[in-house]
Amino acid sequence: MKFYSTNKKSEPVSFEKAVMAGLADDGGLFMPQSIPELDKNFIDQLEKLTFQEIAFLIAQKFIEDEISISDLEKIIYAAINFPAPLIPLDDKISVLELFHGPTLAFKDFGARFMAKAMGHFISKQYRELNILVATSGDTGSAVANGFYDTPGINVFILYPKGKVSHIQEMQLTTLDKNVTALEIDGTFDDCQRLVKSSFVDTELNKVLTLSSANSINFARLLPQMFYYFEAYKQIENRFGEIFFCVPSGNLGNLTAGLIAKKMGLPVTKFIAATNANTGFAEYIRTGSFIPRNSILTFSNAMDVGNPSNLERIRELYFNNISDIQKNIYSDSADDIETLKTIKSVYDKHGYILDPHGAVGYFVLNNYLQNHGSNNRSAVLLETAHPAKFLDVIEKEVKLNIEIPERLMNCLSKEKKSVPLSANYSQFKDYLLSIKK
Ligand SMILES: *Cc1c(COP(=O)(O)O)cnc(C)c1O
Repeated sequence: MKFYSTNKKSEPVSFEKAVMAGLADDGGLFMPQSIPELDKNFIDQLEKLTFQEIAFLIAQKFIEDEISISDLEKIIYAAINFPAPLIPLDDKISVLELFHGPTLAFKDFGARFMAKAMGHFISKQYRELNILVATSGDTGSAVANGFYDTPGINVFILYPKGKVSHIQEMQLTTLDKNVTALEIDGTFDDCQRLVKSSFVDTELNKVLTLSSANSINFARLLPQMFYYFEAYKQIENRFGEIFFCVPSGNLGNLTAGLIAKKMGLPVTKFIAATNANTGFAEYIRTGSFIPRNSILTFSNAMDVGNPSNLERIRELYFNNISDIQKNIYSDSADDIETLKTIKSVYDKHGYILDPHGAVGYFVLNNYLQNHGSNNRSAVLLETAHPAKFLDVIEKEVKLNIEIPERLMNCLSKEKKSVPLSANYSQFKDYLLSIKK
């Protein structure tokens, strides 16, 4: 399979090139040249396959023979080593728990698979790779965990001092080996500026091979398709309409679901839920998209004003807005609705949603009440564990949550970080000093 750029100004490339480069030379996003179709048998026999077997078969459709069967199996079994269980709430809505990975958010799927794939390619021919990631919280820990202990790859996580939650900081600063946390005395934008400046610094790039573990890397999208199939396998009533509700920010998760549908997964419609950052919901309603600045909310991983994967969704449907509207419904929930939903779902079902999942539940529940037949099943993607949002859940909703052991573990470790100013020349000196 070859991957083309959504800007269409550079030549299509192999899977390896797409993964190692992240972005196309012309600045576009990589998309597969065709969407592989699965035969009907595959869908009918999903129940006989394990999650990892499903993951392998889907991945192989895109990677083909670029990675040998035994190496691809190794990558899948190392990356996708935790489950995605479907928990029924009532007779229609079930929750797909995507937070059983090491950092308790669905980003573990993408980050771990991308890390293992890059680790595979680097072992063949590349020089030691230094990955720089600026983070405002969640992405950094998923990426750091994914690359943890990968030979040939060093990871530097830049985070703004004092501006991430205590839990997030502990997740970032308690790894060692090939992961270094850089505590920048500045804002998230400063962190991003330092990373960007170093990528265009020719002197630095002569000495060190730098790379970004970019969130728009196709290797992060691919493993997000796996769990749509895994969810479908676990749905009890598959004979009516089937809805997937996706709490959305940069639209990567939604895009993966749409590709899964194009491959043959029988989904009636996707419900994309946004928070107060309503640009995508308005795009689906009106057909025109207006980029804007992001607004801070309790579901902060979805605080996105200009979603990076919108380009990919347009490509998938050849920019035909009525086709896009046929496949996607979208609406939003504000912070007050989010808190009320966490409370009401707990009161009704004894289940604690995190703020992102609550945005999804609110939009999905309204949709089901106003549309569709009685014979239907809906899957709500729960993108993070509620314990990651302890402040919101305990202070605002007044519920107690048990903290999972893997989170407790890092909370009891010693914080290790390298404090740096937001000054580029100091950052550059630091990077040069690691290459003694
Ligand atoms: C990143 C993230 C999202 C948004 O996912 P996109 O693929 O960017 O739309 C939703 N919930 C959580 C918890 C996240 O970390």
